[in-house]
Amino acid sequence: MTDANCIFCRIAKGEIPCAKIYEDDNVLAFLDLAPVHHGHTLVIPKSHHKDMLEVPAELGTSIFSALQKVAAAVMKATGAQGFNVMQNNGLAAGQTVFHIHWHIIPRFDDDSLEMWEQGSYPDAAAMQAMAASVASHL
Ligand code: AMP
Ligand code: ZN
Repeated sequence: MTDANCIFCRIAKGEIPCAKIYEDDNVLAFLDLAPVHHGHTLVIPKSHHKDMLEVPAELGTSIFSALQKVAAAVMKATGAQGFNVMQNNGLAAGQTVFHIHWHIIPRFDDDSLEMWEQGSYPDAAAMQAMAASVASHL
């Protein structure tokens, strides 16, 4: 399934150029053109799925295997000490391209990038209630 208006479908089809790193039958990896750090890579399924809720679970093995392979290569190429895998779903979460993709962002001991602040629950009961609420929707 592809979407003619989707930039990542067009990259997957070779209609728009990219700095390609890896591809197999199901997956493509290429450099993000606006990198957090050089080597910042995107891993996408070649088929068009909007987000995590729509991507078929059967693609998971191909995607996970590509993430492992490509992340190891990004680490070696950049000399990074670590990496983040990030995946945004929905406008509220910062998704700007609505063809699911995973970011591999190389990280360095002294890069001083901050993730968001974490909070707390008022008490253990509130935390258990939240868990029960989520579980009730499974
Ligand atoms: P997200 O905000 O998670 O949807 O991420 C979309 C990412 O795609 C951003 O980091 C963009 O810099 C990147 N991006 C958009 N268009 C291209 C393109 N043509 N080639 C490479 N990366 C792109
Ligand atoms: Zn697409």
